[in-house]
This record gives sequence, structure tokens and C-alpha cells, in this order.
Amino acid sequence: KRTITRLPEWLKTPIPSAGANPEFAKIKADLRGLNLHTVCEEARCPNIGECWGGSNKAAATATIMLMGDTCTRGCRFCSVKTSRKPPPLDPHEPENTAEALARWGLGYVVLTSVDRDDLADGGARHFAETIRRIKQKKPTLLVEALTGDFAGDLDMVKIVAESGLDVYAHNVETVENLTPYVRDRRATFRQSLKVLEHVKKVRGKEGIITKTSIMLGLGETEEELWETLRELRKVDVDVVTFGQYMRPTKRHLAVEKYITPDEFELWRQRALDMGFLYCASGPLVRSSYKAGEAFIENVLR
Ligand code: SF4
Ligand code: SF4
Repeated sequence: KRTITRLPEWLKTPIPSAGANPEFAKIKADLRGLNLHTVCEEARCPNIGECWGGSNKAAATATIMLMGDTCTRGCRFCSVKTSRKPPPLDPHEPENTAEALARWGLGYVVLTSVDRDDLADGGARHFAETIRRIKQKKPTLLVEALTGDFAGDLDMVKIVAESGLDVYAHNVETVENLTPYVRDRRATFRQSLKVLEHVKKVRGKEGIITKTSIMLGLGETEEELWETLRELRKVDVDVVTFGQYMRPTKRHLAVEKYITPDEFELWRQRALDMGFLYCASGPLVRSSYKAGEAFIENVLR
């Protein structure tokens, strides 16, 4: 079977330059010397100009990776390196991260991590400790945690959910049918729904925002997507994002389809009609895309 190799026009975006946006340049300069590893820079995310340098500084968003760069899982869409036994956690990371974030000029931070199935608690306490320290040092900084499924251990979900964060995100990534082909075999669609459901059980329906992300273009059908959205609404997920699946290397899953910007807009409308609080949807959208701006406009207002 032939795979699609040519990118459609709408995916060819110029890499943002600091000169175009003074706010972006300033946040970038501030980052130097803070010893923080942003996914935005390391993954060379094309949205960095928009996320770091929007007109509203309080909405500036960045994504930080905790618990190292080596994952115990191997999803077929992801280019993070994997190992059964990654290096141990850095016990100073919660404090150092909080200290650095308190000094950096952001309004919204997304904390994410690799999956650490090698740790008894999956890293839940490390996550929670980092969030608590951030909130102690800078209570106004909005915090989103994007976690794995903790192998279905809902007590670990509770530990993170009760740590003081504003948004709990966990990605289902794709429709149920494709999950066994797309995600690591230890991840299931049902398990992910339970994680999202449990966050609301712990914090109450109105007490926290839950969020999930879906990649399009992996071969999902329209009906499967509708069904996915219905399942997510059933467990009161508030926010959904859609982005184009992009193949990181030839060893990863092929792209089945490039979704047009109009189709992305259609799915955004459909999600809003179904009762999602907000939805970011577009070819280059990632789960953290302008998350600060969206939160401020839709939740705080
Ligand atoms: Fe960073 Fe996410 Fe925005 Fe990309 S979309 S720049 S990774 S916050
Ligand atoms: Fe990548 Fe997350 Fe899957 Fe690990 S669990 S391989 S970091 S998508």
C-alpha cells in the first residue's frame, strides 16, 4: 500500500521567529538559566509563537515534561524513547520546577510526563508534589496536569486530582476501535474513560475541568468519532481537542488521511453542540494549544 508522503499546503507553516513577537522573545529569554525542559522547544512545536506570546500575558502557556525523557510504554504514534527501567526520579525536581515556574513569566503551565509503570505509584506522588509546590509559590499560576492512566489505579488518579490543579487532562488519543493499534497494549479506551470519570468523582462535577485529546487521520470513521464524543460526555469530560496525527518517523504508524481545516472546524462545532465547554481543533493543534487563553476565556469568565 502506498503511504502519503506529501504534506498538504495547510501543514506547511513557517517556524515562528522571536523578532515577530516581543512577548514571545521575552518569555524565551527568561527561560534561559531556569533549567526547565519545555516540550514546546524540545519538540519544536509550531505553535510556540502563539502559546508563549499571545496578546494576553496572563494566558501565556508552556508544557513541561516531568520524570525524565524515557517512557516504559511504546505507543505507535509517539517518538519518545522507551525502556523497561528508566533512570530513577530526581527528588529535587518538584521543588526546582516550582521555583523556576514561579520566576518565569507564564500564566498557565501544562505538566506532563512519560508513563512510569516501573514505579509503584506510577509517579503520582511526584506529580502531586510538584503541583503543590507550584501553587505554594505562585497561587495565580494556572496548572494543568496531563497524566497517563496509572495502569488503571484510580487511587493514583485521586492523588493527582487532589493536589490543587485546575485542569486534569488525560488523552484517549483515538477512537476505541483503533486503540489497540495506536496506543501501547497496556492502555485501553475504557481505562482512560475511567481515569477521566474518577477525577470528577473526586473533585465534583463543577470542581475541576477535565480534558482529553484526539488525533485525527489514523483511519477513524465519522461514526466512531461521534461515539467517542458521546462516551466522553457521559463521564462529563469538559474539553476536547482535535489535531492531525503526524508520523514522527517511518517506523511509526502511517498517516491514513490529512483532515482539512474545514473538517476540523466542523468537528469543533459538533463538539460544542454536544456540550463540551470548549474545543481546540485544527491541523496543528496539540492538547496544550493556547490552553491558557482558552481557560481564561471559557472558565474564568
Ligand atoms: Fe507548547 Fe503545547 Fe503550545 Fe506546542 S501547543 S507550544 S507544546 S504549549
Ligand atoms: Fe509516548 Fe505517552 Fe505512549 Fe509513553 S505513554 S510512548 S510518552 S504517548
